[in-house]
Amino acid sequence: MGTDKNMGRPQTRILLTTATGPYGVSDGYAEAVGMQMELFNNQITREQGVHSPRASFWTFPLYFLAENISVPSTVLDFPTWRDFTRELGKGYSHVGISFIQTNVMKVKRMADYIRTRHPEMKIILGGYGAALPDLEKLVPHDEVCHGEGISWLRQYFGEDPSMPVRHPTMHGVVRKHVYGMQTVSDDSSVLFPGLGCSNGCFFCATSAKFGGKYIPILPTGESVFKTCLRAEERLGVREFAVIDENFLKTPDRARDLLRLMEENGRNYHFWIFASAEAVTAVGVDFLVRLGVCALWMGLETSKEMFGKLGGIDVRSLISELQAKGISVISSSILFMEHHDPRSLDEDIDWAIGMGTDLHQFMQLTPLPGTPLYKRYLEEGKLIPGFPYQRLSGQIALSFLHNNFTTDDAGEITRMAFRRKYEADGPGIVNMARTALAGYERALADSVERDRIGLGWNWSTMRYDRAGRSEPDTFMQGRIRFLRQRAREFRPILPASLLFSPNAAARARSAALMRRYRTVFGKPSFQDVAGYIVLIATGALEWLRHLAARILGRDELVRQPRCRRIEYPAGPKGMQ
Ligand code: SF4
Repeated sequence: MGTDKNMGRPQTRILLTTATGPYGVSDGYAEAVGMQMELFNNQITREQGVHSPRASFWTFPLYFLAENISVPSTVLDFPTWRDFTRELGKGYSHVGISFIQTNVMKVKRMADYIRTRHPEMKIILGGYGAALPDLEKLVPHDEVCHGEGISWLRQYFGEDPSMPVRHPTMHGVVRKHVYGMQTVSDDSSVLFPGLGCSNGCFFCATSAKFGGKYIPILPTGESVFKTCLRAEERLGVREFAVIDENFLKTPDRARDLLRLMEENGRNYHFWIFASAEAVTAVGVDFLVRLGVCALWMGLETSKEMFGKLGGIDVRSLISELQAKGISVISSSILFMEHHDPRSLDEDIDWAIGMGTDLHQFMQLTPLPGTPLYKRYLEEGKLIPGFPYQRLSGQIALSFLHNNFTTDDAGEITRMAFRRKYEADGPGIVNMARTALAGYERALADSVERDRIGLGWNWSTMRYDRAGRSEPDTFMQGRIRFLRQRAREFRPILPASLLFSPNAAARARSAALMRRYRTVFGKPSFQDVAGYIVLIATGALEWLRHLAARILGRDELVRQPRCRRIEYPAGPKGMQ
């Protein structure tokens, strides 16, 4: 760790930036596989064309850093080359670049430029790309931050690294398109309760980056609740993407959060990551009450290797989650060491057979810094000179596999996404079905609980007779939310039917439209207007996809807009 020789001088000022765009474009600095800055499009609705919801997320670590240092700073998120070079002209003593491995050649270009045009500026590298073993040779720099960046940067600038962390209040999404229509505004925010994961799965870059530890940022239910409250007051949002690898691993925090929400009459909604064992431990009813509307569950492989699925009937658990209105996004790993063509095929079928709303297939990838990388390096299994730009886990294997060639892996991966799409249809329709089922179930369960005299029991964290007291007004609010959420999906259905990939998907969309009619009655004027608009924008989007394919592109790419925010000098205060 270095010390800042300029520390204390008035000109100390840091630019915090991402790698420059364009993204998702093969241009000598990066490879194109879909739109790599879009989680939905690139990783969980790949191959779903016009049905794929499109959304880029802001680069949250940059805002965390800027909020938590006293040195004046500027965040430049998703800059073009021109944005970046112009910004440098405004005068900085330091430039911090956060990047992932696939963007390393962009960062080299940025650093080369700084060295040539602004040799006085110090270059600090961070993010997952910081783990690359030959970073010294590849990218000119002065410092590398390997782990948690806030305390590192505070220490670097001579500040107190143990100061409490201030959580930024911000929207999560740059912009969103559904069937080609841009949504008017972002009604969600993000929460970072903690970093890293203590499970230590051998392939996991997140666990490796934070030394196999979980580092809490919002350690209590109260701190999470206050962050939600602040976001509601400042941004008017009630929905949160919880970026924490396993939020439920600290069940007391989740319970306290629910208790505070109930005491204060606040009905927030969450997208979370959680393993099957953590979900089983707290129970699905608890998650419904907490307001979880979507959950990402890592399945990895049918062969129990990571202690996440042991002894759990995962298929039943997923069905229960969906029946109670929680969309399940699952993920699995292809080309594990035990895979041969037959067992890989069986694992793909197994993952699809889980029937989740959405699924991510990711290739086993020995990312620098992970135990897997170290072992493969020792065993001579890493492919020499494998370009970092291709290290996305979607294109090709970066190691020698006994049963697959590196380039075959790309097509097998693409076909796995295709199989999921053809088996279960568009993910967005699955989410609509789950939302509607959740509303119906919550209503029916509430009536039944009233009939037989059950209530929420804080001691057992279940519904039972001992928990029965006042009318359950909190859950009534939750049911209103589930109704509203289900209704919000209705306008997509005719477009989903029109652009269905096959007869089975078409039949499912038609059945869901009938179900909506049974539950909510005839479509309203607003619904019909939504149908017409989404069919029209969906048709345009379909043509854009066609044009992209004719031009030889894998995916339709929309560049996220650049955002620039200045942060003044001085302590930013406490939460
Ligand atoms: S459980 Fe998930 S986040 Fe934790 S180490 Fe394993 S893969 Fe990584």
